[in-house]
Amino acid sequence: MQIGLPKEIKVKENRVALTPGGAATLIRRGHSVVVQEGAGVGSGLSDQQYIDAGATIGSAEDAWAAEMVVKVKEPIASEYKYLREDLLLFTYLHLAADRPLTEALLAAGTTGVAYETVQIEDRSLPLLTPMSEVAGRLSVQAGAYHLQKPVGGRGVLLGGVPGVQPGHVVILGGGVVGTNAAKMAMGLGARVTILDVSHRRLTYLDDVFFGRLRTMMSSEANIRALLPETDLLIGGVLIPGAKAPNLVTRDMLGLMQEGSVIADVAVDQGGCVETIHATTHDDPTYVVDGVVHYGVANMPGAVPRTSTFALTNATFPYLLLLADEGRYVLKKNAALQLGVNTHRGQLTYGAVAEAFDLPH
Ligand code: NAD
Repeated sequence: MQIGLPKEIKVKENRVALTPGGAATLIRRGHSVVVQEGAGVGSGLSDQQYIDAGATIGSAEDAWAAEMVVKVKEPIASEYKYLREDLLLFTYLHLAADRPLTEALLAAGTTGVAYETVQIEDRSLPLLTPMSEVAGRLSVQAGAYHLQKPVGGRGVLLGGVPGVQPGHVVILGGGVVGTNAAKMAMGLGARVTILDVSHRRLTYLDDVFFGRLRTMMSSEANIRALLPETDLLIGGVLIPGAKAPNLVTRDMLGLMQEGSVIADVAVDQGGCVETIHATTHDDPTYVVDGVVHYGVANMPGAVPRTSTFALTNATFPYLLLLADEGRYVLKKNAALQLGVNTHRGQLTYGAVAEAFDLPH
């Protein structure tokens, strides 16, 4: 199969959907790969590395003309012209939040397979997990930085020093984001408390990290009790398919010390802190009632090199299946089948159809 790798053109998107190593594997198996000039540059991957892997370098048109196109972000309006019926598109789509793209895919008849809805037997979403891992780990790095006095923080070093208490990191949600945040915070030497509503999840965390972190059931009373002694609060809550619950309301901010930091990673689902709103890497924080708020909605974008490898490690086995077996695999492989959002002008993913009140 011919696989096209366009350069991401969404603002500040530096990830790329296929590494030279992945291209080499595809080519060894008899496929061909067309890479748009400069596609990997934002992730530190040169055209020469793709050429060495056996790929050809071309224009956006050349990459989009391939039978299967693999991307990171959903196509933006200027890319709609490349959509066509015999195109298999494998990328993040997030259609429920994007009616124009949904209509463009349907009008063109493109088969759109969305990373975010590929789902395995345990109901987890393997192509979302790596980005939660990155965001969870990054949230501690970002929080530690913004706790510094010159940038408006409380002036607390999370690890403390001998003779001085370390900082306290409180994490709401003990899933992928929360667990990865906890690992980073523990690595820095901070005190860590993690709250979840799932007793099973808390038991797991206690089993794995016993003695190094404290687990607590997530309840308003427990959160209120913790806020006065929290230096860095991390939001990593998710209720699949729903807006994140408001666990920290505006009035609760008054319980926190001035200059303490909230990094609400769940901001992409509305956030679990009432006063959070989405921010950008260029202007990541703002202050409400003396508390620094960090609400970057695309945190992995700050570390494209790591994110590219993390994402492609997860997507590549599926990409290989699609290349080797063609679109027939979409009927055979249950995980990939759930990834199909549009096909020949039909909406094939229920939640997207419901979002727009369209038949499926
Ligand atoms: P996950 O499903 O692995 O974990 C969510 C956890 O929240 C679960 O353990 C669940 O039991 C817990 N939870 C649910 N309700 C709760 C409550 N009331 N109190 C405490 N815990 C509760 O999800 P994840 O992969 O860790 O993702 C978390 C959020 O981070 C999602 O909204 C995701 O979209 C977001 N995210 C954001 C970025 C970014 O760049 N900002 C990047 C990746 C992921």
